Amino acid sequence: MRVALKEEKRFALIGNPLGHSVSPFIHRELMAVSKVTGTYTLQEVLPQELEQVYCTQLRELNGFNVTIPYKTAVLPLLDALSARAALFGAVNTVVVQNGKTKGYNTDGSGFLKALAAANISLQGRVLVLGCGGAARTFAFESALAGAAVTIAARHSEKATGLQQALREKLGCNATVCALADIRGEYDVLLNATPVGMTPHIDAAPVSEAVVKRAGAVFDAVYNPQETVLLRYARENGILHENGLSMLVWQAAAAEELWNNVSFKEAEIAAVIRKTKEELRR
Ligand code: NAP
Repeated sequence: MRVALKEEKRFALIGNPLGHSVSPFIHRELMAVSKVTGTYTLQEVLPQELEQVYCTQLRELNGFNVTIPYKTAVLPLLDALSARAALFGAVNTVVVQNGKTKGYNTDGSGFLKALAAANISLQGRVLVLGCGGAARTFAFESALAGAAVTIAARHSEKATGLQQALREKLGCNATVCALADIRGEYDVLLNATPVGMTPHIDAAPVSEAVVKRAGAVFDAVYNPQETVLLRYARENGILHENGLSMLVWQAAAAEELWNNVSFKEAEIAAVIRKTKEELRR
């Protein structure tokens, strides 16, 4: 008797460069948990190829993730956007259904889930380090949560652009300062720069004195799992978390959109544990 094979779904991550991305590992684990039969591949795309690859290959998939440098560039190609993706002006997850594409932003929900799991409350004075893609997500989610946002960046003209977007889209009056000139105390410090990431693991975006003036610290970086910034937090008894749980939670949110599944906290915790082991290899 022939047993009919379950339909194999196809997903991908597009970006450039992709390097040794851990995303295929995370998605394979999540699909195993939710019993979805599918593949998740990496596809490095050149900027001049994006539109053609989108039309000829990406639209044929069940869904795809988008990372640097295409989170904004992909927007005009899509048929529809979720409210969050339109507000943030950035898409990291695309669902393809009946030949139509819809863009979502699961970085924000992954970030919120990761903070909640670490008992870090996004309230009061929030300091965002950096003004790129992750900083935009952190600043918008902080403003939506009602926090008072300060953006600290090395180039203040770029930070002013994010400050303006927060004012225009949310009516939020964020403060901007130089990364080297952070004053005062903060309830939450969010690192959205790559400083401290492998291979430059001896660097920190701010001094230990700045960390000491924070109530909690979240680092978007997940490799290494304890950056110098997080070591400062641990050594000073400050609540802290790295970016790995955010990475897994945003992937889980993408799987939920693609496959109409849902995950329990314990299942995600197990995937985070396995991903930590995978990163140590
Ligand atoms: P991005 O868009 O390139 O932005 C990076 C920001 O960091 C920019 O504001 C940049 O400043 C600043 N920066 C870079 N090098 C710096 C340095 N040496 N000193 C001070 N500032 C510096 O990158 P992104 O997508 O926001 O990613 C930032 C980090 O978050 C990366 O490590 C990424 O892996 C991580 N991330 C993690 C997750 C997760 O799920 N955990 C998700 C997204 C991103 P300039 O504009 O002046 O260059």
